[in-house]
Amino acid sequence: MIIAIDGPSGAGKSTLGKMLAKRLGLLYLDTGAMYRAVALAVTRAGIGLDDTERIAEIARTARIDLVGEPDSMQVLLDGRDVTAEIRTLEAAQAASMVSTISDVRRTMVEHQRAIGSAAQRGCVLEGRDIGTVVFPDADVKFFLTATAEARARRRFEEDRAKGRDSTYEQTLAEINERDIRDATRVDSPLVEAPGAVRIDTSGIGLDEVFGLMLSAIDERMNTDERKS
Ligand code: C5P
Repeated sequence: MIIAIDGPSGAGKSTLGKMLAKRLGLLYLDTGAMYRAVALAVTRAGIGLDDTERIAEIARTARIDLVGEPDSMQVLLDGRDVTAEIRTLEAAQAASMVSTISDVRRTMVEHQRAIGSAAQRGCVLEGRDIGTVVFPDADVKFFLTATAEARARRRFEEDRAKGRDSTYEQTLAEINERDIRDATRVDSPLVEAPGAVRIDTSGIGLDEVFGLMLSAIDERMNTDERKS
């Protein structure tokens, strides 16, 4: 079973993706973490964010592994734990830039398809292009969205709980900037996949969204069973 979750930053994809993976016993793949790891490798190598050829080379040669359970997942870059380092604001911005490079996307998509297809019981993948590019034939596709203000408020509160120093205004500006880059890039811009279940999470609680997602999965799987 492949479940695709796409949507802009801060819409709740990671939290809900992990909840679904745990409930359904599926692998969880945070594809944004992979772009963040590439961005970190690029920064560490001292390569400029405009040097597309060398960035593509880094994406091809860096070893990126996501290991462990959804809630305690570790991201390894060439065998070293970079879980915390990829969560900085700088890494997010750099990831959003390297993810506009087609060669980088091609390498990541191949990697993501291999991981998803190899997962024994199936996989929940979350990102920006899962239902449109990575697994266009996913069993169930979700498009989670929310207003920029609601997403910024959530992100800001998460950051504050983690002791990070930022303001709501900075977080909103950063979200708006990444939204524009994700939506306007030439290769695989963020768009809703055909047939996706769209949920606006602005005014509703996590448990309610989770319930809606579980019902949608049930419904799709039952419809498929009846068809076969
Ligand atoms: O999801 P997250 O915010 O961690 O992703 C970091 C960046 O990676 C996003 O802003 C987006 O530009 C990029 N990304 C992407 N395609 C994906 C996942 C993430 O372009 N499937």
